[in-house]
Amino acid sequence: MTVENKSYECCILGAGPAGVGAALELTRRGTTNILIIDQNTIVGGLARTEKVDGARFDVGPHRFFTKNKEINQLWHDLLKEDFYPVSRLTRIYYNHRYFQYPVKAFDVLKKLGGIESLQVMSSYLLTHLQPKKEALTFEDWVTQKFGRKLYETFFKTYTEKIWGIPCKEIGAEWAAQRIKGLDIREVIKNALITSGQQIKTLVEEFDYPVLGAGQMYEAMCDEAVSKGAELMLGAKVVGFEQKDNRIVSVEVKAPQGQTIKVEAKQFFSSIPMTHFFKMLAPEESARVQQAVDALYYRDHITVNLLVDGKDLFPDQWIYLHSQDVKAARLANYNNFSSRMSGDENKTALSIEYFVFQDDAEWKMSDQELIDLAKQEIEYLKLVKQEQVEKAWVLRETEAYPVYYMGFQPHYDLLKNRANEFKNIMLMGRGGMYKYNNQDHSIISGILAARNYLRLPGSPYDLWEINVDAEYCESSERVSS
Ligand SMILES: Cc1cc2nc3c(=O)[nH]c(=O)nc-3n(C[C@H](O)[C@H](O)[C@H](O)COP(=O)(O)OP(=O)(O)OC[C@H]3O[C@@H](n4cnc5c(N)ncnc54)[C@H](O)[C@@H]3O)c2cc1C
Repeated sequence: MTVENKSYECCILGAGPAGVGAALELTRRGTTNILIIDQNTIVGGLARTEKVDGARFDVGPHRFFTKNKEINQLWHDLLKEDFYPVSRLTRIYYNHRYFQYPVKAFDVLKKLGGIESLQVMSSYLLTHLQPKKEALTFEDWVTQKFGRKLYETFFKTYTEKIWGIPCKEIGAEWAAQRIKGLDIREVIKNALITSGQQIKTLVEEFDYPVLGAGQMYEAMCDEAVSKGAELMLGAKVVGFEQKDNRIVSVEVKAPQGQTIKVEAKQFFSSIPMTHFFKMLAPEESARVQQAVDALYYRDHITVNLLVDGKDLFPDQWIYLHSQDVKAARLANYNNFSSRMSGDENKTALSIEYFVFQDDAEWKMSDQELIDLAKQEIEYLKLVKQEQVEKAWVLRETEAYPVYYMGFQPHYDLLKNRANEFKNIMLMGRGGMYKYNNQDHSIISGILAARNYLRLPGSPYDLWEINVDAEYCESSERVSS
């Protein structure tokens, strides 16, 4: 086997938001002897935009929202007028009805109807009359806060579709951190005292790049490359050589099949944390390996559909809570940007399935998945099967780190072990086993770069970067 050797000051593993964030920060600060490696053929990681026949599809819906001023400024500076506000419309599909999301009190009561609304209120009151037990699980926490009926309607099925484990096996801390903004007192007050028409309609906004989420990471990477960084795409990291808590080199299977050994003074890795530990040679202790085996990620399938027709439905995405469809969410990219479908008379949609690799859906052929998605979208009365002109499937492994009850000690052990390495920083979503949004991942890359450069304010504790989430949808950016 011929091995090509390369040597850089910095080597960045993964060209997702974390990786290109690190590259941009390093190059902007004058460190340009950098190699960025990614197994994909385009940059952006989970936030990339795939292009097929002029149509563009993200890996599931990606809205841009951050409370971090620096990231917000960076996004706007990079894309300027190509990064613009979108008025958000998202709904929940449950029991053949579409509910507004974030959940609005009057809407829930109106659409649930008299009997179910009474059940919501009575189960809430019952819960609050009973003595409180300590909430240990997601199910305990949500049921105690909202009552069983609302838990079953708006939390249980979707949460279980996403994570693939019963809500009884997800810790209460997860719920406390994620679920905000649904105030049952508001539900009851509105039902008893006010009329629905009096409730102010909130219009929420998020930002979005006109050519899809990936446009942001292409811009970040282009700038880093223009300043001297080297980019190697279609190249998979297959091994790490370690010595005395240092990474000596990484072994890479390059696009033409050749093996490349890359040495660097400093490595930055956003490849899944569990993969990193498994690829180390010599191998890690039995304790570390047990911790690695105890952590797992949820995998993700997107069935992308190019559909004949426009204005099919107004939402950017719809959460599918009902158990009568296997899909968990669907997105309409035309409602993010009119440029996404590449033809004003067509619509770019994606249907998402959250799975593990040993689930039946993951083992289905692409054609079977396409047939399933087409049946489900017709069942939802959104699109007729014959309207679908083109369809293809994307499979992402390690898309969501799973925070099941009991994951923490294993995670802590790996985190502590990772911190012992002197010249590699783990960053990003999979890399740190963190449920990051894009902004968190970019911040982790930028701060990793600042730690390496020993800039004022460093060292930053990358593990402390705020974790936000889908349920925890801040209304900071709200206009009425
Ligand atoms: C379905 C879905 C919807 C989402 N919606 C939103 C949203 O609305 N808003 C939001 O802000 N965030 C959203 N996110 C989260 C967002 O996509 C991530 O936070 C972000 O992409 C993480 O960036 P990262 O660089 O940390 O990791 P990644 O994007 O996972 O990048 C890691 C990179 O490492 C590469 N890699 C992995 N292993 C190897 C290897 N062995 N060799 C070489 N390369 C390797 C991968 O190919 C990948 O490009 C969503 C995520 C998903 C899955």
